[in-house]
Amino acid sequence: PQIFDPPEELERKVCALADLIRGSSNVVFHTGAGISTASGIPDFRGPNGVWTMEERGLSPKFDTTFENARPTKTHMALLELQRVGILKFLVSQNVDGLHVRSGFPRDKLAELHGNMFVEECVKCGKQYVRDTIVGSMGLKPTGRLCDVSKARGLRACRGKLIDTILDWEDSLPDRDLSLADEACRKADLSVTLGTSLQIKPSGNLPLLTKRKGGKLVIVNLQATKHDRQADLRIHGYVDEVMTKLMKQLGLEIPEWTGPAVVESSALVKPEPPLKLDPEAPRPAKEEPCSHHNGTTEEADGACPERGPSRKEHWDSLKQECPGSDRGPVAAKRVKVESLLS
Ligand SMILES: [Zn+2]
Repeated sequence: PQIFDPPEELERKVCALADLIRGSSNVVFHTGAGISTASGIPDFRGPNGVWTMEERGLSPKFDTTFENARPTKTHMALLELQRVGILKFLVSQNVDGLHVRSGFPRDKLAELHGNMFVEECVKCGKQYVRDTIVGSMGLKPTGRLCDVSKARGLRACRGKLIDTILDWEDSLPDRDLSLADEACRKADLSVTLGTSLQIKPSGNLPLLTKRKGGKLVIVNLQATKHDRQADLRIHGYVDEVMTKLMKQLGLEIPEWTGPAVVESSALVKPEPPLKLDPEAPRPAKEEPCSHHNGTTEEADGACPERGPSRKEHWDSLKQECPGSDRGPVAAKRVKVESLLS
């Protein structure tokens, strides 16, 4: 059953989330199938998910192909949160490839269950991000070979390429899992979006933050396995929640301009200082964060919208990169590799 917080409660909770983010220095987000449903992509392991349907001998239905699916507002909001230095790491259970295709830097992303667009060499481990889905599932050979050239030599590696999509019994990729594990332990705030947190070990990673003294926020339309551990639970559409959150933080959700792969965040943009000074004066023309008439929140200043000052700060940072409103980002984006190459 789906749960919807009433509008005023939703506003209040998003304010609370914005406050938690402002008060944190290391925020990790966790995403599940729920963030991609708006792009027409079905859940993978849910009752009508791809794996579940295939197991029953049924063919899964897609509203769209993986290649045509567009990153949602949530994907793009997460990208921006990373760019401005708020989001330190992203852990995803999704295999639809939308985080990578949105331009999210791969070194700040753990794709725990694989990626439909990625194939990997069994010999040298090199990963190829393709512009179409690689065509197999369950870590099976895709029929292509690795073309990494060996040092000094002229010969290519020629190792077999396999897909990266885990089957039920496959264990999670070591590198992604340990990066995610480490990030969650270091985080002082874990925010989960669109996942019921039922799949292990992915669903338990947010608890590591909690165990180390951090906070946990769960955004989902259904109850989740770890609701009792959450400091804040938000029941609403993730796109709506993220849109409101970005407004609270004074950040814009960037438009998606087509698939491109960013391997390293180091090439993207210097991180602006993350923490906002909670004592910073608020610009006079600000609206209170809540639109209802209650005065308590305004009165105690629990949830002021500090967005504009933050935005001005980033605008000034942007101006330090003349010639491009995104600084070096566009230049460092790598074209998605074609399968036919
Ligand atoms: Zn290779």
